Amino acid sequence: MTTYSQPDDAGHYGEFGGKYVPETLIPALEELESVYYHLKDDSEFQGELDELHREYTGRPSPLTYAPRLSDDLKLNIFLKREDLNHTGAHKINNTLGQILLARKMGKTRIIAETGAGQHGVATATVAAKFGLQCIVYMGEEDIRRQQLNVFRMELLGAEVRPVNSGSKTLKDATNEAIRDWVANVEDTYYLIGSVVGPHPYPMIVRDFQKIIGEETKEQFAAMSGGLPDALVACVGGGSNAIGIFYPFIDDDVQMYAVEASGLGLDTEKHAATMSLGSQGIFHGASSYLLHNDNGQVQLPHSISAGLDYPGIGPEHSYLKTSGRVKYLDATDNEAVQAFRWLSEKEGIIPALESAHALAVLQQRKTSMEKWDNVVVNLSGRGDKDVNTIADYLGKDLS
Ligand SMILES: *Cc1c(COP(=O)(O)O)cnc(C)c1O
Repeated sequence: MTTYSQPDDAGHYGEFGGKYVPETLIPALEELESVYYHLKDDSEFQGELDELHREYTGRPSPLTYAPRLSDDLKLNIFLKREDLNHTGAHKINNTLGQILLARKMGKTRIIAETGAGQHGVATATVAAKFGLQCIVYMGEEDIRRQQLNVFRMELLGAEVRPVNSGSKTLKDATNEAIRDWVANVEDTYYLIGSVVGPHPYPMIVRDFQKIIGEETKEQFAAMSGGLPDALVACVGGGSNAIGIFYPFIDDDVQMYAVEASGLGLDTEKHAATMSLGSQGIFHGASSYLLHNDNGQVQLPHSISAGLDYPGIGPEHSYLKTSGRVKYLDATDNEAVQAFRWLSEKEGIIPALESAHALAVLQQRKTSMEKWDNVVVNLSGRGDKDVNTIADYLGKDLS
C-alpha cells in the first residue's frame, strides 16, 4: 500500500517546493511537466533508459557487504556502489534521464550550472553521447578551484562560461543559467543536477535517481531476505539520498541523511542547511536555506565540493518536518577519518561526499543497538578527492 504521495499538483511538498521563476518560464515548466508525465509510464522511453543504464552506465551497481567495517561496528554494513557507475557517481542516473527528455522535446541546446564541476562533467558526458550543444555556467572562483573538471568538460566538447558576478560561485552561476534559459527557452533544455529547482525538477530528478533504492531493495532481499533496518546517505542538494530512500518510504526502515558541518556547527564555515538554516526561496523553490536576515544566501563550506551547497531539495525539507528522515551532520575532519577508514578496511576509496555518510556510523552519531543491517549509499568514488585529502593531511604531492 502506498501512502506517501508527494508533491501535490502545484509541486508542493507540504509547505515547501513550488515554482518561483520569471513569468516567461512558466510555459516551459508546464511543457516539461506534461512531456514528463507522458513519458514516465511509456514503455519505449523507459526501455531506452534501461538499456542505456545497462550498456553505458554499467547498472545495476552492486550491493557490497563490507566485512571489515562490519566487524569494527558489530553491525552488518552494506554499500550501494554508485561509485562504480560510468563517470564515478550517481549523477549520471539523472543526466542520462534528462538528456532523453530533452531529445523527446526536440531541444538542441543543453545548459547547466555547476559548482565543483561534477554535474557539469556528467552533463557534458551525455551531451557528447547524443551530439547536443552543451554550455555550462560556472563561477570564476569555482573555475579556478576546479581546473581539472573544467578541462574534462572541454575535452567532452562542452563550453564552460565563466560567471564573474557576486561571489563568483554556484549561486551566481545558477542565476546566469536561469537568465540564459529565459532568453533561449525555445531551443534550450535546462538540465538541473539535483532534486532542487522549480517544480517539476525535484520530482523528475528523484524519479531518475530512485533506481538506486529499487535495486537496493531487490539486492538486499536476495542477499538477506527482507529489509535493512536503516539507510544512510549524504546530502548536498539531496538526489542520491532521495534516490535510495524513496522506494523504502512506506516501509519500516529508518533513514538518515548526513549534511556537511564543515569546520563545525559553531563556526560560520559549514553547509548545514537543515541544522542551521531556515525556510527561504532559492533556485526557484521554497526550502530550507542558509541565508542571513536580509535574505542574502550565505556562502557554504565543506571539504567536499558536492556538499558545498547553501540549499536543499524541497522534498527533504518536507521529510525533515514530517520526521520521516533524520538529518545528521559530519565535519570535514570526521569525513576525512571515514574516508581513510573505508580505504584501509575495504580497499574502496570513496568520494569525500559519501565519506560523510560513513562518518555518522564510525562516530556512532546515532543509536544503532537495535540494528542488524544498514545500507550506506556510496554515492561516488574518491579519485577526484585525492589531492584535497593530501592537502588536508599536509602531504606535498608536487
Ligand atoms: C554531487 C554529489 C553529491 C551531492 O549531491 P546530492 O544531490 O545531494 O546527491 C554526493 N556525492 C557525490 C559523489 C556527488 O558527486
